[in-house]
Amino acid sequence: MASVPKALFCPTCRKVVLATDGDFPFCSDRCRILDLGKWASGDYKISSPILDPEVLEGLGENMPHRRHSDDED
Ligand SMILES: [Zn+2]
Repeated sequence: MASVPKALFCPTCRKVVLATDGDFPFCSDRCRILDLGKWASGDYKISSPILDPEVLEGLGENMPHRRHSDDED
């Protein structure tokens, strides 16, 4: 059995998207394009904003920040 989710949250707007949706895992073509744009601009960090500076410091220990484009060049 493949572990394909039947639904998940749209990476762009966090709306629930069913796997049967034509734009899955995005809720719409617009969100797909927005998400791709974030990756392309190197601005894609974490999916939801965190406003607590202490949490941000903790994340900095474990997560790569902004990736320097190592697949270019
Ligand atoms: Zn969406």
